[in-house]
Amino acid sequence: MKVTVLGAGESGVGAALLAKHLGYEVFVSDAGIIKENYKRELTDKGIPKEESKHTWTNICDSDIIVKSPGIPDATPLILKLIAQGIPVISEIEFAGRHTSAAIIGITGSNGKTTTTRLIYHLLQSAGLNVCIGGNVGTSFARNITENKYDYHVLELSSFQLDGIVSFRPNVAILLNITPDHLDRYEYKMDNYVASKFRIAMNQQEGDILILNADDPEVQTFTKLYKFSKRGKSGKSKNQPRIIKVFNHFEDTRRLIVPPLFGGGQEGAFDMQKCVLKGQHNLFNATCAIIAAKSFDIKDEIIQEGLNTFINDPHRLEFVANINGVEYINDSKATNIDSVFYALQAMEKPVIWIAGGTDKGNDYGKIKNLVEKKVKALICLGADNEKLVENFSPILKNIEETTSAKEAVQRAAVYAENGDVVLLSPACASFDLFENYMDRGDKFKAAVLELINH
Ligand code: ADP
Repeated sequence: MKVTVLGAGESGVGAALLAKHLGYEVFVSDAGIIKENYKRELTDKGIPKEESKHTWTNICDSDIIVKSPGIPDATPLILKLIAQGIPVISEIEFAGRHTSAAIIGITGSNGKTTTTRLIYHLLQSAGLNVCIGGNVGTSFARNITENKYDYHVLELSSFQLDGIVSFRPNVAILLNITPDHLDRYEYKMDNYVASKFRIAMNQQEGDILILNADDPEVQTFTKLYKFSKRGKSGKSKNQPRIIKVFNHFEDTRRLIVPPLFGGGQEGAFDMQKCVLKGQHNLFNATCAIIAAKSFDIKDEIIQEGLNTFINDPHRLEFVANINGVEYINDSKATNIDSVFYALQAMEKPVIWIAGGTDKGNDYGKIKNLVEKKVKALICLGADNEKLVENFSPILKNIEETTSAKEAVQRAAVYAENGDVVLLSPACASFDLFENYMDRGDKFKAAVLELINH
Protein backbone atom coordinates (compact mmCIF):
# COMPACT_ATOMS: atom_id res chain seq x y z
CA MET A 1 0.00 0.00 0.00
CA LYS A 2 1.29 3.47 -0.86
CA VAL A 3 0.53 6.36 1.48
CA THR A 4 1.21 9.88 0.27
CA VAL A 5 1.34 12.62 2.84
CA LEU A 6 0.60 16.16 1.67
CA GLY A 7 2.21 18.83 3.83
CA ALA A 8 5.34 18.21 5.90
CA GLY A 9 4.68 20.04 9.15
CA GLU A 10 4.32 18.28 12.52
CA SER A 11 1.12 16.55 11.48
CA GLY A 12 2.38 15.42 8.05
CA VAL A 13 5.74 14.22 9.32
CA GLY A 14 4.00 12.35 12.15
CA ALA A 15 1.74 10.61 9.61
CA ALA A 16 4.75 9.72 7.43
CA LEU A 17 6.62 8.24 10.41
CA LEU A 18 3.59 6.16 11.37
CA ALA A 19 3.08 4.93 7.79
CA LYS A 20 6.74 3.91 7.57
CA HIS A 21 6.54 2.22 10.98
CA LEU A 22 3.55 0.22 9.72
CA GLY A 23 5.57 -0.95 6.74
CA TYR A 24 3.78 1.03 4.01
CA GLU A 25 5.41 2.68 1.04
CA VAL A 26 5.45 6.40 1.90
CA PHE A 27 5.91 9.60 -0.08
CA VAL A 28 5.81 13.14 1.32
CA SER A 29 5.01 16.16 -0.84
CA ASP A 30 4.98 19.78 0.31
CA ALA A 31 4.17 22.81 -1.87
CA GLY A 32 6.35 24.97 0.40
CA ILE A 33 9.80 24.64 1.90
CA ILE A 34 10.14 21.84 4.47
CA LYS A 35 11.75 22.83 7.78
CA GLU A 36 15.29 21.51 8.27
CA ASN A 37 14.51 19.38 11.32
CA TYR A 38 11.63 17.64 9.51
CA LYS A 39 13.76 17.12 6.39
CA ARG A 40 16.42 15.43 8.49
CA GLU A 41 13.87 13.18 10.18
CA LEU A 42 12.40 12.04 6.86
CA THR A 43 15.85 11.43 5.38
CA ASP A 44 16.96 9.47 8.46
CA LYS A 45 13.95 7.17 8.10
CA GLY A 46 14.51 6.76 4.35
CA ILE A 47 11.22 8.45 3.44
CA PRO A 48 11.27 10.05 -0.05
CA LYS A 49 9.99 13.62 -0.30
CA GLU A 50 9.62 16.63 -2.54
CA GLU A 51 9.28 20.31 -1.65
CA SER A 52 8.11 23.51 -3.35
CA LYS A 53 5.81 21.43 -5.57
CA HIS A 54 3.30 18.61 -5.78
CA THR A 55 4.22 16.35 -8.72
CA TRP A 56 1.10 14.57 -9.99
CA THR A 57 2.95 11.48 -11.22
CA ASN A 58 4.50 11.01 -7.74
CA ILE A 59 1.12 11.18 -6.09
CA CYS A 60 -1.54 9.75 -8.40
CA ASP A 61 -0.62 6.09 -7.80
CA SER A 62 -1.30 6.35 -4.03
CA ASP A 63 -3.80 4.13 -2.25
CA ILE A 64 -4.50 6.77 0.34
CA ILE A 65 -3.69 10.44 0.86
CA VAL A 66 -3.09 11.92 4.29
CA LYS A 67 -3.69 15.65 4.01
CA SER A 68 -2.31 18.18 6.47
CA PRO A 69 -4.92 20.44 8.08
CA GLY A 70 -3.50 23.58 6.46
CA ILE A 71 -4.48 22.43 2.95
CA PRO A 72 -8.11 23.36 2.15
CA ASP A 73 -10.44 20.64 0.80
CA ALA A 74 -11.26 22.78 -2.22
CA THR A 75 -7.65 22.88 -3.49
CA PRO A 76 -7.56 21.70 -7.17
CA LEU A 77 -5.07 18.92 -6.35
CA ILE A 78 -7.35 17.52 -3.61
CA LEU A 79 -10.41 17.69 -5.85
CA LYS A 80 -8.52 15.88 -8.61
CA LEU A 81 -7.39 13.13 -6.23
CA ILE A 82 -10.91 12.65 -4.92
CA ALA A 83 -12.22 12.53 -8.51
CA GLN A 84 -9.73 9.67 -9.13
CA GLY A 85 -11.34 7.80 -6.26
CA ILE A 86 -8.33 8.07 -3.92
CA PRO A 87 -9.42 8.47 -0.29
CA VAL A 88 -8.18 11.70 1.32
CA ILE A 89 -8.08 11.64 5.12
CA SER A 90 -6.54 13.66 7.95
CA GLU A 91 -3.63 12.60 10.11
CA ILE A 92 -6.04 12.25 13.05
CA GLU A 93 -8.10 9.71 11.08
CA PHE A 94 -4.98 7.83 9.98
CA ALA A 95 -3.58 7.64 13.50
CA GLY A 96 -6.96 6.79 15.01
CA ARG A 97 -7.10 3.68 12.80
CA HIS A 98 -3.91 2.37 14.36
CA THR A 99 -4.50 2.59 18.09
CA SER A 100 -6.88 0.96 20.53
CA ALA A 101 -6.05 3.43 23.31
CA ALA A 102 -8.80 5.53 24.94
CA ILE A 103 -9.16 8.91 23.26
CA ILE A 104 -10.26 12.19 24.79
CA GLY A 105 -10.83 14.80 22.05
CA ILE A 106 -11.26 18.51 22.73
CA THR A 107 -12.46 21.08 20.23
CA GLY A 108 -14.03 24.55 20.28
CA SER A 109 -13.19 28.10 19.27
CA ASN A 110 -11.54 29.07 22.58
CA GLY A 111 -10.10 27.15 25.52
CA LYS A 112 -8.89 24.04 23.69
CA THR A 113 -5.26 24.16 24.83
CA THR A 114 -6.10 25.00 28.44
CA THR A 115 -8.67 22.19 28.73
CA THR A 116 -6.47 19.68 26.89
CA ARG A 117 -3.52 20.42 29.17
CA LEU A 118 -5.65 20.23 32.30
CA ILE A 119 -7.16 16.86 31.36
CA TYR A 120 -3.70 15.53 30.57
CA HIS A 121 -2.46 16.76 33.95
CA LEU A 122 -5.41 15.22 35.84
CA LEU A 123 -4.92 11.85 34.15
CA GLN A 124 -1.19 12.03 34.76
CA SER A 125 -1.77 12.90 38.42
CA ALA A 126 -3.80 9.70 38.66
CA GLY A 127 -0.79 7.73 37.40
CA LEU A 128 -2.33 6.79 34.04
CA ASN A 129 -0.15 6.06 31.01
CA VAL A 130 -1.30 9.13 29.09
CA CYS A 131 -0.03 11.27 26.23
CA ILE A 132 -1.00 14.75 24.96
CA GLY A 133 -1.01 15.78 21.31
CA GLY A 134 -2.93 16.80 18.21
CA ASN A 135 -3.05 20.52 17.69
CA VAL A 136 -0.85 21.07 20.75
CA GLY A 137 2.72 19.78 21.02
CA THR A 138 3.46 16.64 19.04
CA SER A 139 1.12 15.04 16.50
CA PHE A 140 -1.17 12.14 17.38
CA ALA A 141 0.47 9.96 14.69
CA ARG A 142 3.96 10.61 16.04
CA ASN A 143 2.84 9.80 19.60
CA ILE A 144 1.39 6.48 18.47
CA THR A 145 4.55 5.61 16.57
CA GLU A 146 6.94 6.39 19.40
CA ASN A 147 5.22 4.78 22.39
CA LYS A 148 2.32 2.67 23.47
CA TYR A 149 0.00 4.78 25.61
CA ASP A 150 -3.31 3.80 27.20
CA TYR A 151 -4.84 7.29 26.83
CA HIS A 152 -4.43 10.06 24.26
CA VAL A 153 -5.67 13.56 25.10
CA LEU A 154 -6.05 15.40 21.79
CA GLU A 155 -6.63 19.05 21.01
CA LEU A 156 -8.54 19.06 17.70
CA SER A 157 -9.07 21.92 15.28
CA SER A 158 -12.01 21.99 12.89
CA PHE A 159 -9.58 21.44 9.98
CA GLN A 160 -8.37 18.23 11.58
CA LEU A 161 -11.94 17.08 12.11
CA ASP A 162 -12.87 17.78 8.49
CA GLY A 163 -10.70 14.88 7.35
CA ILE A 164 -12.04 12.19 9.68
CA VAL A 165 -14.09 9.20 8.58
CA SER A 166 -14.28 6.74 11.46
CA PHE A 167 -12.31 8.55 14.21
CA ARG A 168 -14.19 8.04 17.46
CA PRO A 169 -13.19 9.64 20.76
CA ASN A 170 -14.42 7.91 23.89
CA VAL A 171 -14.84 11.32 25.47
CA ALA A 172 -15.49 14.32 23.21
CA ILE A 173 -15.67 17.92 24.42
CA LEU A 174 -17.11 20.79 22.40
CA LEU A 175 -16.30 23.90 24.41
CA ASN A 176 -17.92 26.72 22.43
CA ILE A 177 -18.39 27.96 18.89
CA THR A 178 -17.79 31.55 17.86
CA PRO A 179 -17.13 32.70 14.29
CA ASP A 180 -13.57 31.87 13.20
CA HIS A 181 -11.90 30.62 10.01
CA LEU A 182 -15.13 31.22 8.10
CA ASP A 183 -13.11 31.62 4.88
CA ARG A 184 -12.67 27.82 4.88
CA TYR A 185 -16.42 27.26 5.35
CA GLU A 186 -17.94 29.26 2.48
CA TYR A 187 -18.53 32.04 5.02
CA LYS A 188 -21.39 29.98 6.49
CA MET A 189 -21.54 29.62 10.25
CA ASP A 190 -23.62 26.42 9.90
CA ASN A 191 -20.78 24.76 7.99
CA TYR A 192 -18.29 25.69 10.71
CA VAL A 193 -20.60 24.42 13.47
CA ALA A 194 -21.17 21.17 11.57
CA SER A 195 -17.42 20.76 11.25
CA LYS A 196 -16.95 21.06 15.01
CA PHE A 197 -19.73 18.53 15.64
CA ARG A 198 -17.84 15.98 13.54
CA ILE A 199 -15.96 15.26 16.77
CA ALA A 200 -19.05 13.30 17.86
CA MET A 201 -20.26 11.84 14.57
CA ASN A 202 -18.86 8.35 15.22
CA GLN A 203 -19.50 8.26 18.95
CA GLN A 204 -21.59 5.40 20.23
CA GLU A 205 -23.32 4.16 23.31
CA GLY A 206 -20.88 4.15 26.22
CA ASP A 207 -19.05 7.25 24.94
CA ILE A 208 -19.40 10.68 26.50
CA LEU A 209 -20.06 13.98 24.75
CA ILE A 210 -19.55 17.11 26.89
CA LEU A 211 -21.24 20.24 25.53
CA ASN A 212 -21.57 23.90 26.49
CA ALA A 213 -25.12 24.42 27.79
CA ASP A 214 -24.95 28.19 27.35
CA ASP A 215 -23.66 28.34 23.79
CA PRO A 216 -26.56 28.98 21.37
CA GLU A 217 -24.77 27.51 18.34
CA VAL A 218 -23.94 24.33 20.24
CA GLN A 219 -27.46 23.98 21.61
CA THR A 220 -29.16 24.47 18.25
CA PHE A 221 -26.95 21.92 16.59
CA THR A 222 -27.34 19.41 19.43
CA LYS A 223 -30.95 18.83 18.37
CA LEU A 224 -29.86 18.08 14.78
CA TYR A 225 -27.10 15.86 16.09
CA LYS A 226 -29.48 13.82 18.27
CA PHE A 227 -31.86 13.53 15.34
CA SER A 228 -29.08 12.23 13.09
CA LYS A 229 -28.36 9.51 15.66
CA ARG A 230 -31.92 8.21 15.62
CA GLY A 231 -32.77 4.85 14.11
CA LYS A 232 -35.67 4.20 11.69
CA SER A 233 -38.05 3.47 14.55
CA GLY A 234 -37.41 6.99 15.84
CA LYS A 235 -35.64 5.57 18.88
CA SER A 236 -32.23 6.85 19.87
CA LYS A 237 -29.51 4.42 18.99
CA ASN A 238 -25.79 4.50 19.28
CA GLN A 239 -25.89 7.79 21.10
CA PRO A 240 -23.12 8.91 23.36
CA ARG A 241 -24.15 10.14 26.77
CA ILE A 242 -24.52 13.93 26.43
CA ILE A 243 -23.46 16.00 29.44
CA LYS A 244 -24.26 19.71 29.32
CA VAL A 245 -22.08 22.07 31.32
CA PHE A 246 -23.24 25.57 32.25
CA ASN A 247 -20.87 28.43 31.56
CA HIS A 248 -21.76 30.68 34.49
CA PHE A 249 -20.76 30.24 38.11
CA GLU A 250 -21.95 32.17 41.12
CA ASP A 251 -19.36 30.85 43.52
CA THR A 252 -15.97 31.17 41.83
CA ARG A 253 -14.13 29.49 44.69
CA ARG A 254 -15.86 26.11 44.59
CA LEU A 255 -16.92 23.93 41.68
CA ILE A 256 -19.75 21.50 42.22
CA VAL A 257 -19.78 18.56 39.82
CA PRO A 258 -22.64 16.05 40.03
CA PRO A 259 -21.86 12.32 40.13
CA LEU A 260 -21.48 10.98 36.60
CA PHE A 261 -23.16 7.64 36.75
CA GLY A 262 -26.16 8.21 39.02
CA GLY A 263 -26.03 7.63 42.76
CA GLY A 264 -23.05 8.76 44.79
CA GLN A 265 -22.36 12.25 45.98
CA GLU A 266 -21.65 15.35 44.01
CA GLY A 267 -18.01 16.44 44.09
CA ALA A 268 -17.00 19.83 45.43
CA PHE A 269 -13.67 21.15 44.18
CA ASP A 270 -11.83 24.03 45.80
CA MET A 271 -10.55 26.35 43.05
CA GLN A 272 -8.69 28.79 45.31
CA LYS A 273 -5.30 27.18 44.81
CA CYS A 274 -5.85 26.57 41.09
CA VAL A 275 -4.15 28.99 38.69
CA LEU A 276 -7.18 28.97 36.40
CA LYS A 277 -9.22 32.11 37.04
CA GLY A 278 -12.37 33.55 35.49
CA GLN A 279 -15.75 32.11 34.48
CA HIS A 280 -14.38 30.66 31.23
CA ASN A 281 -11.69 28.76 33.09
CA LEU A 282 -14.18 27.40 35.64
CA PHE A 283 -16.10 26.08 32.65
CA ASN A 284 -12.95 24.55 31.14
CA ALA A 285 -12.12 23.01 34.52
CA THR A 286 -15.61 21.53 34.92
CA CYS A 287 -15.32 19.87 31.49
CA ALA A 288 -11.89 18.52 32.45
CA ILE A 289 -13.14 17.21 35.81
CA ILE A 290 -16.03 15.37 34.12
CA ALA A 291 -13.59 13.82 31.64
CA ALA A 292 -11.35 12.69 34.50
CA LYS A 293 -14.30 11.32 36.47
CA SER A 294 -15.41 9.31 33.44
CA PHE A 295 -12.19 7.32 33.87
CA ASP A 296 -13.00 6.74 37.54
CA ILE A 297 -10.37 9.13 38.88
CA LYS A 298 -11.09 9.90 42.52
CA ASP A 299 -12.11 13.41 43.61
CA GLU A 300 -9.08 13.73 45.95
CA ILE A 301 -6.73 13.08 43.05
CA ILE A 302 -8.57 15.52 40.81
CA GLN A 303 -8.32 18.16 43.58
CA GLU A 304 -4.59 17.56 43.87
CA GLY A 305 -4.27 17.91 40.09
CA LEU A 306 -6.20 21.20 40.12
CA ASN A 307 -3.89 22.54 42.82
CA THR A 308 -0.71 21.65 40.94
CA PHE A 309 -1.76 22.54 37.38
CA ILE A 310 0.48 24.98 35.50
CA ASN A 311 -1.13 26.58 32.46
CA ASP A 312 0.70 27.43 29.24
CA PRO A 313 2.02 30.99 29.19
CA HIS A 314 0.16 33.88 27.48
CA ARG A 315 -3.25 32.87 28.82
CA LEU A 316 -4.21 35.23 31.67
CA GLU A 317 -0.66 34.73 32.89
CA PHE A 318 0.33 36.66 36.00
CA VAL A 319 3.61 38.48 35.29
CA ALA A 320 4.38 40.73 38.27
CA ASN A 321 3.00 43.02 40.93
CA ILE A 322 4.79 46.37 40.82
CA ASN A 323 3.83 49.01 43.39
CA GLY A 324 0.46 47.36 43.91
CA VAL A 325 -0.26 47.09 40.17
CA GLU A 326 -0.78 43.61 38.73
CA TYR A 327 0.48 42.92 35.20
CA ILE A 328 -1.27 40.14 33.28
CA ASN A 329 -0.29 38.66 29.92
CA ASP A 330 -3.21 37.32 27.87
CA SER A 331 -1.50 37.63 24.48
CA LYS A 332 -3.26 34.47 23.24
CA ALA A 333 -6.58 36.36 23.34
CA THR A 334 -6.83 37.00 19.61
CA ASN A 335 -10.60 37.35 19.35
CA ILE A 336 -13.44 39.20 21.09
CA ASP A 337 -14.79 36.23 22.98
CA SER A 338 -11.55 35.57 24.82
CA VAL A 339 -11.21 39.27 25.73
CA PHE A 340 -14.78 39.23 27.01
CA TYR A 341 -13.87 36.50 29.49
CA ALA A 342 -10.56 38.13 30.40
CA LEU A 343 -12.24 41.43 31.28
CA GLN A 344 -15.00 39.60 33.09
CA ALA A 345 -12.37 37.85 35.23
CA MET A 346 -10.77 41.15 36.31
CA GLU A 347 -11.81 42.26 39.76
CA LYS A 348 -9.85 45.53 39.76
CA PRO A 349 -9.82 48.61 37.48
CA VAL A 350 -8.08 47.75 34.20
CA ILE A 351 -5.56 49.49 32.00
CA TRP A 352 -6.24 47.54 28.83
CA ILE A 353 -3.59 46.98 26.16
CA ALA A 354 -5.19 45.82 22.89
CA GLY A 355 -4.83 45.88 19.13
CA GLY A 356 -3.01 44.23 16.24
CA THR A 357 -4.40 42.61 13.12
CA ASP A 358 -8.19 42.75 13.36
CA LYS A 359 -9.94 39.58 12.13
CA GLY A 360 -13.34 41.27 11.74
CA ASN A 361 -14.04 42.09 15.39
CA ASP A 362 -17.43 43.28 16.59
CA TYR A 363 -16.41 45.44 19.55
CA GLY A 364 -20.08 46.03 20.42
CA LYS A 365 -19.99 42.73 22.34
CA ILE A 366 -17.57 44.06 24.94
CA LYS A 367 -18.54 47.74 25.13
CA ASN A 368 -20.50 47.35 28.36
CA LEU A 369 -17.67 45.49 30.06
CA VAL A 370 -15.10 48.03 28.87
CA GLU A 371 -17.23 50.88 30.15
CA LYS A 372 -17.55 49.19 33.53
CA LYS A 373 -13.97 48.00 34.03
CA VAL A 374 -11.48 49.89 31.86
CA LYS A 375 -9.78 53.13 32.95
CA ALA A 376 -7.55 53.55 29.93
CA LEU A 377 -6.97 51.83 26.59
CA ILE A 378 -3.44 51.57 25.26
CA CYS A 379 -3.60 50.58 21.60
CA LEU A 380 -0.76 48.38 20.40
CA GLY A 381 -1.03 47.93 16.65
CA ALA A 382 0.10 49.26 13.32
CA ASP A 383 -3.43 50.48 12.61
CA ASN A 384 -5.59 51.36 15.63
CA GLU A 385 -8.34 53.23 13.87
CA LYS A 386 -11.12 50.73 14.56
CA LEU A 387 -10.29 50.47 18.28
CA VAL A 388 -10.13 54.23 18.68
CA GLU A 389 -13.36 54.73 16.75
CA ASN A 390 -15.20 52.16 18.86
CA PHE A 391 -13.99 53.19 22.28
CA SER A 392 -13.42 56.94 22.12
CA PRO A 393 -17.13 57.61 22.87
CA ILE A 394 -16.85 55.72 26.18
CA LEU A 395 -13.19 56.11 27.25
CA LYS A 396 -11.47 59.36 27.83
CA ASN A 397 -7.99 57.87 28.09
CA ILE A 398 -6.87 56.27 24.84
CA GLU A 399 -3.30 56.21 23.58
CA GLU A 400 -1.62 54.68 20.55
CA THR A 401 1.70 52.85 20.76
CA THR A 402 3.76 50.71 18.38
CA SER A 403 5.91 48.57 20.68
CA ALA A 404 5.29 46.42 23.75
CA LYS A 405 7.80 48.50 25.71
CA GLU A 406 6.07 51.77 24.88
CA ALA A 407 2.67 50.23 25.65
CA VAL A 408 3.78 49.02 29.08
CA GLN A 409 5.41 52.34 29.91
CA ARG A 410 2.29 54.30 28.96
CA ALA A 411 0.08 51.84 30.86
CA ALA A 412 2.24 52.33 33.95
CA VAL A 413 1.54 56.06 33.85
CA TYR A 414 -2.22 55.46 34.21
CA ALA A 415 -1.96 52.57 36.67
CA GLU A 416 -2.45 53.26 40.39
CA ASN A 417 -2.06 50.99 43.38
CA GLY A 418 -4.86 48.37 43.13
CA ASP A 419 -5.18 48.44 39.32
CA VAL A 420 -4.44 45.77 36.72
CA VAL A 421 -2.55 46.21 33.48
CA LEU A 422 -3.97 43.61 31.11
CA LEU A 423 -2.58 42.71 27.70
CA SER A 424 -5.58 41.05 26.02
CA PRO A 425 -5.35 42.18 22.40
CA ALA A 426 -8.51 40.84 20.66
CA CYS A 427 -6.35 40.75 17.53
CA ALA A 428 -3.68 38.68 15.84
CA SER A 429 -0.10 39.83 16.34
CA PHE A 430 1.46 39.69 12.88
CA ASP A 431 1.51 43.46 12.24
CA LEU A 432 4.15 44.16 14.90
CA PHE A 433 5.27 40.77 16.19
CA GLU A 434 6.29 37.33 14.94
CA ASN A 435 3.38 35.65 16.69
CA TYR A 436 1.34 35.84 19.90
CA MET A 437 4.19 34.28 21.90
CA ASP A 438 6.65 36.92 20.73
CA ARG A 439 4.11 39.61 21.67
CA GLY A 440 3.58 38.10 25.13
CA ASP A 441 7.31 37.65 25.72
CA LYS A 442 8.05 41.26 24.76
CA PHE A 443 5.25 42.43 27.08
CA LYS A 444 6.72 40.41 29.96
CA ALA A 445 10.22 41.70 29.28
CA ALA A 446 8.93 45.28 29.29
CA VAL A 447 7.15 44.70 32.61
CA LEU A 448 10.28 43.22 34.19
CA GLU A 449 12.23 46.24 32.96
CA LEU A 450 9.88 48.43 35.00
CA ILE A 451 11.01 46.59 38.13
CA ASN A 452 14.65 47.26 37.36
CA HIS A 453 14.08 51.01 37.02
P1 ADP B 1 -7.36 27.67 22.11
O1 ADP B 1 -6.38 26.55 22.18
O2 ADP B 1 -8.75 27.21 21.75
O3 ADP B 1 -6.91 28.86 21.32
P2 ADP B 1 -6.48 28.58 24.77
O4 ADP B 1 -6.68 27.69 25.93
O5 ADP B 1 -5.13 28.67 24.16
O6 ADP B 1 -7.54 28.19 23.64
O7 ADP B 1 -6.97 30.05 25.14
C1 ADP B 1 -7.03 31.07 24.15
C2 ADP B 1 -7.61 32.35 24.71
O8 ADP B 1 -8.99 32.14 25.01
C3 ADP B 1 -6.96 32.83 26.01
O9 ADP B 1 -6.91 34.23 25.99
C4 ADP B 1 -7.90 32.33 27.08
O10 ADP B 1 -7.88 33.14 28.24
C5 ADP B 1 -9.27 32.36 26.39
N1 ADP B 1 -10.15 31.27 26.80
C6 ADP B 1 -9.79 30.11 27.41
N2 ADP B 1 -10.87 29.33 27.64
C7 ADP B 1 -11.94 29.99 27.13
C8 ADP B 1 -13.35 29.71 27.05
N3 ADP B 1 -13.88 28.57 27.54
N4 ADP B 1 -14.15 30.65 26.47
C9 ADP B 1 -13.64 31.79 25.98
N5 ADP B 1 -12.33 32.14 26.05
C10 ADP B 1 -11.48 31.24 26.61
